[in-house]
Amino acid sequence: MRLGFSACGVSRCEPVEQKVADAFLSWVGEGRHGTMAYMAGNVEKRLNPSLLLPSARSVIVVAMNYYPEKRLRDDQVQFAYYAYGKDYHEVVRSRLLKLAASLSIYDIRHREGAACAGSSAYEGLVCCDTVPVLERYWAWKSGIGWIGKNSSLIIPHAGSFFFLGVLLTELEFTEYDVPMVSFCGNCENCLRSCPTGALSSAYHLDASRCLSYLTIENRGEIPPEYAEKMGNTVYGCDRCQLCCPHNRFATPTEEVAFAASDEFLSMTVEQWHSLTEEDYRRLFSGSAVKRAKYTGLRRNIDLLPEEQ
Ligand code: SF4
Ligand code: SF4
Repeated sequence: MRLGFSACGVSRCEPVEQKVADAFLSWVGEGRHGTMAYMAGNVEKRLNPSLLLPSARSVIVVAMNYYPEKRLRDDQVQFAYYAYGKDYHEVVRSRLLKLAASLSIYDIRHREGAACAGSSAYEGLVCCDTVPVLERYWAWKSGIGWIGKNSSLIIPHAGSFFFLGVLLTELEFTEYDVPMVSFCGNCENCLRSCPTGALSSAYHLDASRCLSYLTIENRGEIPPEYAEKMGNTVYGCDRCQLCCPHNRFATPTEEVAFAASDEFLSMTVEQWHSLTEEDYRRLFSGSAVKRAKYTGLRRNIDLLPEEQ
């Protein structure tokens, strides 16, 4: 069965390593998660997936490439690549459910799956951004890649434009993958490329200063000192990934759901300025951009520089 994953790894289900837990607790304690209150909630579960699925013995992690083949020209209004196509939550989740079914694992939220999978079915929990799990940590732990100084998961010879999905399960494997060492070396491109200082030091992302957070999750005004750094990008920010030398290996996704529509790719600056709520609903039907809501995207568009 072809499910469209570029990488897959497995690790034992156990509490996250103490140094990672301490770093996460400091990150939240210092308020670097901004107003994303959900990051500060369910901390115990986030740091110990067995509290999410008591029977869990293994963590299966998958990665799906979203690097777009057709991209907006530099002189157009920009969106982060991940927002080009359909909402990845649904795509990754449905593929993970298929992977689970192929391994006789059923999601405990769908008890009827147990009956379908038979008496030898294993309990599982599909996690794709909606369950408190440290996806990048588990991707690293499962040998898929390393966490770069820009905080992205980097897959060797493939780059960082990947969605991650996690499947917790009671299924045990005879062998597990081992974590990968970092290949960032002396490079600091991402630290230098970040326009807002959100990456003030390696591996420390201050979400409250990050344009991805400020233009998407943040519901209030974007502070002027950060708004002036947006340039012609109105949704998200890929700068600390685009400058990463490992992304020279990125190849376009074959997943049609992640491709941008012709209408989106042809939008002019003028059309963005005159975007109505109806246009927004049509352009972003089934898209992750719905997260910012029309008012959020409108706020960002209104911050575009006068001259482009
Ligand atoms: S996404 Fe943009 S603002 Fe956020 S850390 Fe990366 S470069 Fe900085
Ligand atoms: S830009 Fe350089 S330092 Fe940053 S994540 Fe990529 S390799 Fe690592």
